[in-house]
Amino acid sequence: MKRITVAKGDGIGPEIMDATLKIILAAGAQIEIDEIEVGEKVYLAGNTAGIAKESWDIIRRNKVFLKAPITTPQGGGYKSLNVTTRKFLGLYANVRPCISLHPFVRTKHPGMDVVIIRENEEDLYAGIEHQQTDEVVQCLKLISRPGSEKIIRYAFEYARQYGRKKVTCFTKDNIMKQTDGLFHKIFDEIAKEYPDIENEHWIVDIGSAKLADTPEAFDVLVLPNLYGDVLSDVAAQIAGSVGLAGSANIGEECAMFEAIHGSAPRRANQNLANPSGLLQGAILMLVHIGQNDVAEKVQNAWLKTIEDGIHTYDIFKEGISKQKVGTKEFADAVIERLGQKPSQLKPVNYSKGSALKLPKYVRRAPAKKDLLGVDIFVHWSGTNPDELAALLQKIELENVKLSMITNRGIKVWPEGFEETFCTDHWRCRFKHKDGQNITKQDIISLLSKAEENNIDTIKTENLYAFDGVQAFSLGQGQ
Ligand code: NAD
Repeated sequence: MKRITVAKGDGIGPEIMDATLKIILAAGAQIEIDEIEVGEKVYLAGNTAGIAKESWDIIRRNKVFLKAPITTPQGGGYKSLNVTTRKFLGLYANVRPCISLHPFVRTKHPGMDVVIIRENEEDLYAGIEHQQTDEVVQCLKLISRPGSEKIIRYAFEYARQYGRKKVTCFTKDNIMKQTDGLFHKIFDEIAKEYPDIENEHWIVDIGSAKLADTPEAFDVLVLPNLYGDVLSDVAAQIAGSVGLAGSANIGEECAMFEAIHGSAPRRANQNLANPSGLLQGAILMLVHIGQNDVAEKVQNAWLKTIEDGIHTYDIFKEGISKQKVGTKEFADAVIERLGQKPSQLKPVNYSKGSALKLPKYVRRAPAKKDLLGVDIFVHWSGTNPDELAALLQKIELENVKLSMITNRGIKVWPEGFEETFCTDHWRCRFKHKDGQNITKQDIISLLSKAEENNIDTIKTENLYAFDGVQAFSLGQGQ
């Protein structure tokens, strides 16, 4: 018997959770349930996190959490509980299988069978955002070696366990050479440890076009957080419907299972919603807790129900579907079919699945770090970069000189183009005149002289080389 935490959520959440639990309990799931309250009611009672402290204690004790969708109230101040849960509990891997159910659910891609493995904790979702000038805001994109190694290794281990042939990685490392570049580099490193599994990398734009057009060309996809968020919805939708896909959020200690869709408030309390997405989440959970036989039984009965044309409104199509049913009737139809297998769709065999056990991340020896310069970001409302350069040259030190100014990344000094549009946010690069290292004290002196000269500095970024390799971007056009 495994104790799990359940949250029924908002909108259609309670209906689809009741249906899901009814099905898996009828199939013989050996679970005991601790129910907690999360979401709208908790937010509106003044808890901006949407969850009480005692509920965290229950989630952490049980380690396995089945969660229905919740409504994050509109307006500032409310933090998304989904993002918080993933990050608090270190749920670094988001696994989303997207499989077409042709010819029973309409899709342009009958042969689609893709698993998207999305990094869940970092990238632009670190949520570190600032307004820095009147005209410019920024969001920090953080990609780490441990974060990338863990998710990429998870993808290869997943492929190996489930007998999949290929792992594909998408990044935009032709532009983001440091962040996406690191993810791609680690993908290449880890792929070498799995010679039995094919690997490939695509630039995310053309890769996404290919995924939307020919999803049969892909097997397992491993993606940084933002691309994974967007593309897993695309993949679920083109496989049939976002209403059919579930997801697992996996960490070293804890795991959370859910549907990928939201709380669909307009459909709530009408016995309309399709419980399949959450049921798919529950099936991933059953495999995770080692109840593979129950998972297999539920999945095959669910496939048989879909195959028999018993469909909720969202996938109901005249000519394909046989009977339009509500949430409860759909659940009863799955329960009636427990023990049966689909005859046209491929029955599943989950004998091989289990929670993946990955080696702990091992931190490498620190590299030799050289401070080669500093980018000082300045809020300045002028328009002529030559004037700004003249101001900045007043704060130069004996050996540390202004070497470049960029605006939104494009070099505007020296030798900028008049045509380049400039905002009030300027990156001003200072380096040693002979290419030697500078010191932290040099940076402090530059900032202090800037202050004396009424230059509005908004932040600095140190320019490093790690083990002799320059580790910062050049200005565009430099
Ligand atoms: P949504 O996924 O709730 O709904 C999008 C569309 O899909 C709607 O037309 C809806 O009726 C339909 N739909 C979704 N699930 C369905 C189901 N099971 N059966 C039938 N139809 C279904 O997205 P939204 O409208 O953008 O968001 C509504 C709320 O859900 C928002 O408050 C949002 O913050 C929240 N949300 C929560 C989660 C989560 O808890 N994991 C995820 C996404 C959105």
